[in-house]
Amino acid sequence: MRSVYVLTDGRHLFQFSEVKVRCSALIAGIVVGVISHLMATPFGLFFNDQTLRVDYFRTGTAEQEIISIDALRTEGQWPGSRTQLVDRLDRGNHRVQIVHKDDSRILFSQGYNTIFQEWQSTEPARQGIFRTFHESVRTPMPNQPVVLRFESRNRFGQFETVAETTIDPQAKNINREVRPPLAPVCSFVQNGLPSEKVDLVFLGDGYRPEEMEKYHRDTERAIASLFQNEPFKSRAKDFNVWVVDVCSVDAGIDEPCRSLWRSTALGTSYNALDSPRYILTIDNCAVRDFAAAAPYDAIAILVNSPRYGGGGIFNQFAISFTGNAPGEPDWWCDYVFVHEFGHSFAGLADEYYSSQISYLDYYPENTEPWEPNITAVLDTNNIKWAGLMDPATPVPTPWDKCRYDSLSALVQRLDAGHVDYKNGIAEMQAILRNPDVAGKIGCFEGAGYASRGLFRPAIDCRMFSKSMAPFCSVCQQAIEQVIDSQSR
Ligand SMILES: [Zn+2]
Repeated sequence: MRSVYVLTDGRHLFQFSEVKVRCSALIAGIVVGVISHLMATPFGLFFNDQTLRVDYFRTGTAEQEIISIDALRTEGQWPGSRTQLVDRLDRGNHRVQIVHKDDSRILFSQGYNTIFQEWQSTEPARQGIFRTFHESVRTPMPNQPVVLRFESRNRFGQFETVAETTIDPQAKNINREVRPPLAPVCSFVQNGLPSEKVDLVFLGDGYRPEEMEKYHRDTERAIASLFQNEPFKSRAKDFNVWVVDVCSVDAGIDEPCRSLWRSTALGTSYNALDSPRYILTIDNCAVRDFAAAAPYDAIAILVNSPRYGGGGIFNQFAISFTGNAPGEPDWWCDYVFVHEFGHSFAGLADEYYSSQISYLDYYPENTEPWEPNITAVLDTNNIKWAGLMDPATPVPTPWDKCRYDSLSALVQRLDAGHVDYKNGIAEMQAILRNPDVAGKIGCFEGAGYASRGLFRPAIDCRMFSKSMAPFCSVCQQAIEQVIDSQSR
């Protein structure tokens, strides 16, 4: 992968590679390319080249949901595909659509997840307590009045309209100010036009100005980890990578359970949804404003903390800790970053099922999850990954689940230094490497936080065990589908 180095302010902050290009030349090339591309596709019939960012609030309980618009603004060139405007992958708990005003044609759509939807699975939400989250959707700017439609899935997995509003591109309430980047941005990997590549932007949180060198080292490491894994390794040429130098007042991030509060640019925090290792931010505006320094399709946030943790919300962001606490394996942050990116980039589900998370029955019974890598269906002909299965593979696929579960229960009670802990982990890993099933695609019971009733495609995967296991071939295919949808 060839790295190209550009800074918006022309300063030389760090050595990402031997190749330097001038930002102005790069932008000029992008503009010429985009204009010629626009003229050649139907994209120009309905949209102009700008991005429309719609900020809004989503308020509700487990049973109710209200959307109210906050602000509309233009935000640079549209970085997404100009040939695949309607999302065919059907992923996400929510979907935004741009609908033709006269004939109801869907002109644009995109699926995504939200923290709100995860919060709906918690006890307070089920008790009827209201909460509000700030969110944004970004679409290409329509060139005529259109309907903007917000949808969410019901308990049967079908999309229902939550809110609709008319967007008139001539309206005076669309903020059209051209805002300079909030922080210096560097083009770390440049492989082509944003509309023909997946544009991944990195942001940092909890890094003081004097820690930018560490931030750059952490970023390089995360990028290397990601592109060591298939399918990212083979598809590296389909990515542009941007790095925004976000500085914070304090080092580290919020740790509410330890009463540690830090002033950081993006507001990331441990203990999200009351889970000790879950890191999220609810400061959506800050994330979006800093990310807008680059054309982006995907956001990765690295936090300046050696304490284990991370989070990933589909089509929002992936967050990972960096470095390692004393006595902990140094590969944990590599594992976490790539795992969380699997969630945020491709909408992959967690394939594990033993976890102290605070969701209650996250996947409704008798409803097939939309996530591409877990299923409740055991009819071999209708399994969503049947195309990757050997028809001779038994369904459900036998594996040493009882032994694995008893070992898992044991190690969760023990200290990491205990001899039985080490032996237990070693035996669990041996079960996952059983040559009879390792690497095969089947239907292995235990997935999506449920020990029974949900199935995963492989005995092991980056979305299953806390290990450097590769993505299983079902997850790899699901990731490639997103790369295809954004780069073609
Ligand atoms: Zn998988």
